[in-house]
Amino acid sequence: MVTPINKMVEHHLRVSPIVYRYKPDEADLKEGQEMFVVQSMKGENKSYIVMLENTEWSCDCPSFKFRSGVDQLGNCKHIRLIIFLKDNNVEIKEI
Ligand SMILES: [Zn+2]
Repeated sequence: MVTPINKMVEHHLRVSPIVYRYKPDEADLKEGQEMFVVQSMKGENKSYIVMLENTEWSCDCPSFKFRSGVDQLGNCKHIRLIIFLKDNNVEIKEI
């Protein structure tokens, strides 16, 4: 089953931001690469790193790794959340 992202979107917009753009040292970010951090809504101090490389998304969460709860494109909820925010021009702050 694909995990819906509406609760995460609502949390990000109305409660507190859970998605940040992650800017490592310039040397560590390649051309066409974008990195994001998605924090847990439960405040468990858990967070996942989402990477976009040109058009290819990846995430370091178990769902992405084991392909469970992903959509037909293989995207986990963290990736789908970031795509949604980008598509809707929601500001993503840097961390
Ligand atoms: Zn993920």
